[in-house]
Parts: sequence; C-alpha cells; structure tokens
Amino acid sequence: MIDAQTSVDALYLVGPQQRDKMKKLGIATIEDLLRHYPSRYLDYSMHVKIAKVPIGSIVTVSGQLSEFKNVYTKSGRTLQKAVLSDETGSLDLMWFNQPFLKNSLKNGQNVSVSGKVELQARSLGMISPDYEVQRFDKFNILLPTIHTGRLVPVYPETQGVSSKWLRSRISTVLNLLHVQITEFLPPEIMSRHGLIDINAAIRNIHFPMTFPDTEIARQRLSFDELFLTQLASLRQRNIWRNDVVGNKFEIQRYAKDLQNFLDSLPFTLTAAQSRSVREILSDLDSLVPMNRLLQGEVGSGKTVVSTIAMYVAHLNHFNSLLMAPTEILAKQHYETVKRLLKPFKIKIGIFTSKEKSKHFDIAIGTHALLSDKIKVKNLGLVVIDEQQRFGVEQRAILKEKGSNPHLLTMTATPIPRTMALTLYGELDLSTIDELPKERKHVKTWVVPPMKRHAGYSWIELEIKSREIQAFVICPFVEESESMTTIKAATKEYDELRKNVFPDLRLGLLHGKMKEKDKAKVLSEFKEKKLDILVATPIVEVGIDFPNANIIIIEGADRFGLTQLHQLRGRVGRGEKQAYCLIYSSTEEEKSIQRLKALETNFVGARLAEIDLMQRGPGQIFGTKQHGREKELKIARLSDSATIQKTRSEAEQLLASSPDLKNYSPLRKLLEKYTIKKVSKD
Ligand code: ADP
Ligand code: MG
Repeated sequence: MIDAQTSVDALYLVGPQQRDKMKKLGIATIEDLLRHYPSRYLDYSMHVKIAKVPIGSIVTVSGQLSEFKNVYTKSGRTLQKAVLSDETGSLDLMWFNQPFLKNSLKNGQNVSVSGKVELQARSLGMISPDYEVQRFDKFNILLPTIHTGRLVPVYPETQGVSSKWLRSRISTVLNLLHVQITEFLPPEIMSRHGLIDINAAIRNIHFPMTFPDTEIARQRLSFDELFLTQLASLRQRNIWRNDVVGNKFEIQRYAKDLQNFLDSLPFTLTAAQSRSVREILSDLDSLVPMNRLLQGEVGSGKTVVSTIAMYVAHLNHFNSLLMAPTEILAKQHYETVKRLLKPFKIKIGIFTSKEKSKHFDIAIGTHALLSDKIKVKNLGLVVIDEQQRFGVEQRAILKEKGSNPHLLTMTATPIPRTMALTLYGELDLSTIDELPKERKHVKTWVVPPMKRHAGYSWIELEIKSREIQAFVICPFVEESESMTTIKAATKEYDELRKNVFPDLRLGLLHGKMKEKDKAKVLSEFKEKKLDILVATPIVEVGIDFPNANIIIIEGADRFGLTQLHQLRGRVGRGEKQAYCLIYSSTEEEKSIQRLKALETNFVGARLAEIDLMQRGPGQIFGTKQHGREKELKIARLSDSATIQKTRSEAEQLLASSPDLKNYSPLRKLLEKYTIKKVSKD
C-alpha cells in the first residue's frame, strides 16, 4: 500500500538514482512530491480544429499522427517531422534533436499537441510543441491529458528531474493511486476562512481546470504554511514563558545608577530608544527570561540601548556577553561599550580568534565566544548583534553558558511588522524607528549613466575641498561574495585609481581578504590615510566612520531599496552633510523610478514596505534567504492579510488547547516546524 508517508522509490519508474535526484528538490516521500508545487502554469487550455488555428496563438490540437520521420541535417543534427490531421485539415509538426521521439510517437496514434502555431514556408505548423499520446480507459473513454490541452503545471526542476517527468509521477499518485493527505486543519478554522480541504487544494494546485482554481488552492496552502509557522513560534514562546525560570533583575533599586549612566552620555536618548529601554527593563524585571528582538536601522543607536541592559545586569551582579558577526564589528562594540561604561569601572573583555581576555564582567566578541573553553560565571544576559547572521544553534549555545539568561537580539534589517510576526514570531519586538535628532538625511541622487563622469568630478572636488572621505560600493556580481565579485571589485578599484582619481588615495576591501589586511585598510581609512574605500556590499555594515560623507553605490539596480538604504547608512555619522550617489547601468525608466524612492524616503521600514510590494521579501534580505523563509514554499511574506489571520487563529487555538490535545494530526505536523533543542557539540 502506498500512502503519503511512503518513500518515492515505491513508485513505478522511480529507482534509487531517481530517488537521490529528487532529494535535491527536497522530495523524499509521496507527500513531499505532492507538496512540490508548480512555480507557474502553461496555458494550453484553448482547443481548436486545425482549419481554425489562429496564427501566433498558443493552442491545443488533437488528431492522428502520420509521416513521422527523423531527418539528418548536414551538420549532423536531427530534425523530427510529422503531420497531424483532424477532420478539418492537417498541420506540420517539427522538433529539433529529439531522435528518441520515435519511441513515443508512432504513425496512426491519436496525439494531442500544444504550442504556438506559426506560418511556415507553405503551410501551418508548430515547432517543438508539447505532445502527448491520447489514452483511453477500458470503456474506450478518453482520459484527461496532463501535458497538453489544459493548464499545465511547470515545476522547479533539477538535473534529470524534468517538469514533464514530475507531472507524470504526480498524476499517477493522484489519479491512479488516489493517495490522500490527512486533513489537519480544524473544520471551524476552514469554514471561518472559506478554505477548501487539503486534498482538493493539492489536486487544484497541480491540475487546475481554471486559474481561479489555482488561486483557491494557493489560499489554502499558504494558510497552512503561515498557520503552522505561527503555531510553532507561539508554542515555542509559551514553552519559554511557562517552563523556564530565569533571573529577575532588580530595576527599581538601581534607578539612581541608571540615571547616572544616562547623565554620563553626551546625548539624550531618542524617544524610540527610551521606549525600547523601558520594554527591555520590564522584561529583565521578570522571572520569565527576556527573548526580545531590537530592530533599528544602522545608526539608530542600538548599541547604547544594549549597553544599558548589560549595565543593569552588572548592577544585579550578573555578567553579560555580546556576540557580533565579524571581528571588526566586535572590536567596534568593544571600544564603544568600554567608552560608555568607563565611568563605572566595569571590566570589558574581548574575544576573537586571536584575543581572549582573562577577566571581565562583560564579554564582547565574535563566534570565538561559542567555544566551549569560554566559560562565563553568572551569565545573566546574552546580546546578539545582527542576529540573522547566526543560527538558532548558536543562540542556544550562548544561552547554555548560563542558567536561562535573558536574551536580547538585534538587527538592522528593517522589516515590516507582519513580516516580523512570521519570521520572528517567538520573539518580542522593540523597534527604534527614528534616528538621533541631529543626524541629517543623506542627500541622495540617482545618477544616470550619462552623468557618471560629472559625478566623479564632483566627488573629487568635495574630497579635496572639504577633506572628507568616500566609499565606493561595488555590486555583487553573483549570489554571494564569490571570486567573480572580488575580481569585479578589484577591477573597479584599479580603474578608479588609475583613470578616474589618480590624485587621490584609494583602498580596497572585500570579504575574502585576511582579517589582518582588512583591519589594516580600515585603520588607514579611519586615520584618513585613504580618501576612498572601494568595497563589496558584504563588508561591515555597522562600521562607524564619522568623516566618510560620500557613498557611491554601483550597480544599484541589483539591490533592493532596503539594502541600498542600509548601505547608505554608512555615511552621515558625523556633523557634515553626507551624500549618496546611486549609480546604475540601466536606462530603464521603471528601474530608475524605483531607485528614485531613495531620494525622498529616509525611513528604512518604509523602504522595506515598498520593496515588499514591488519585488517580494527576497529584496529585503538580499541574496541570503532567511531560514524560515525557505520553509514557505507557496505563502508570501508580503501577504499580510493571511499572516494576520493565521496569527490570530494560532493564538486562539493555543489559548483553548495549549497542548493541542485533540488535534493530533496538527501536533504531528508541527514537529517539523519546531525549533529543536541543540546539543553543544
Ligand atoms: P546602531 O548600532 O543602531 O547602528 P549605534 O549604536 O552604533 O547605532 O549608534 C550610532 C551612532 O549614534 C553612535 O556614534 C552613537 O554614539 C550615536 N548615538 C546613539 N544614540 C544617540 C542619540 N540618542 N543621540 C545622538 N547620537 C546618538
Ligand atoms: Mg550596530
């Protein structure tokens, strides 16, 4: 018996080799196969008689095949030709280099073909149409086609696993084996939101009759994904809240010390910073360990907020630990926190691949902190900067250095609230949504290709006359910082140095450089021994160079607005007016208009929303996909209506049945989504 949980190799035509190939698509069981959703559909639903075929349109024609032949061309390639006839006329068919076609298409067979009708030399024809031999059941009734004559699903493919092949396997599972998936959504939820049942949804997503069918299926399947995600994170949150006892910090008792700290700052906190501090302090003042995400774009002042939390931990005789994704950022935090806490005699330690302090109240460092060798006595608070760069495992390792310490994670990626609910549903959220008052907006211009050189001349003049510095950000040429990107950056650097700015001092920075060399270039830039730093986008988003006041972003059409905004946040940290020049190689009006949003919008969250509407979530996180986003195969992070609905359904369900006692199919499914407790090794 084949059911949803059976391995795919139980299927006819799926051997061990094919099974391994399917693994690459994440397909192991029959259910995985059914949940391998089409990425789009070919509309082959228009059926016509040959006498009426409309030239240039995509249609389906069926009839009898004749005159099939393999023709050898002079260049050693082959053509396959045949004629298809119905009672109204005939049509020429032609394929290129598919000699094996003779095994599947035979003269005399009834065949259905779908494709574009073209007027050839003397007659009407189709070139490389999709085709399928018509099949009849034992009562001689025509069976529905799957590759032609309808909306035909097109799937994500991999080597050796084509859409056509997948379509046949899925059709077998649905139409011959009649495999069913156990319904897991409570009926009242389905009826409240007008959702169809899971098996109808699966059928309609693969073999819809009409486009509206696919939409109805998509609604159900998106609902599932988002609902399960919400349920998993809320359940996780409940477990943390109910089962784990943390350390309650005294807050009131140290009000005076806190005031002293605030008085020692050279600035007053912004309203958004104060609000975040209040939210954090209220978490710390509880036996439930804090589990909060502090969101605020670059320059919004997250470091000082986290420093307050670490200071409060210290006042309560607890040590803290702060982890940053790179050595340079860790160093920068180390310097900042040391400076901020200087008046209070607190020992700050630094932990990198090279340095390891012995005595500390607050440990700041890179991944080096994860090492088993680093023990922290009385760890009360863990702070993680740019948390999306770390995995759940790493978070867990840090937390296990203490006994249920409070956790504060931080991110500079501005994401809309509904999106945060999905991606970070188990965390409480604080948002710093304003920049310190005196910070001026970075004046931004989108520079068309024509004005590129004028832009360069202007920059040179600015650098010489105002003694400021500039960044040039080169685009990623590929997915990540590959050799190609580095070569491109190096080429750009050489070009600028030799031909554009021969009188200025330029440096190059990319992610594949040795830490030592990176540090050297950065310190030269800091000491103003360089005028221009040419860098790839990956490099050190959070770095503070008050004298860098111009940034050129090359190839901007490759970036989302959110990323561009974050890149632009590297300048304008000082007193002087800062500028951002957006260079893009495109002349396309639509791209230019999109980029122009940066000239008038200076709030990261607003730009993130524009991105989400225009290009989807991929733009916000850049090329790296968020872990949880990968689990969403069909749901969209921009679908805030469904996100809100699923959130509230998940809340209600857990409120009425915290352990999901009467919902066992749902409980089982959830295991896949739940964050696993990870061991240290
Ligand atoms: P983030 O980590 O959010 O990118 P930082 O904490 O590094 O931002 O702060 C950026 C800069 O702004 C630092 O130089 C910091 O001293 C300064 N700063 C932080 N808060 C304020 C404030 N309320 N007013 C003025 N300057 C501030
Ligand atoms: Mg920072």
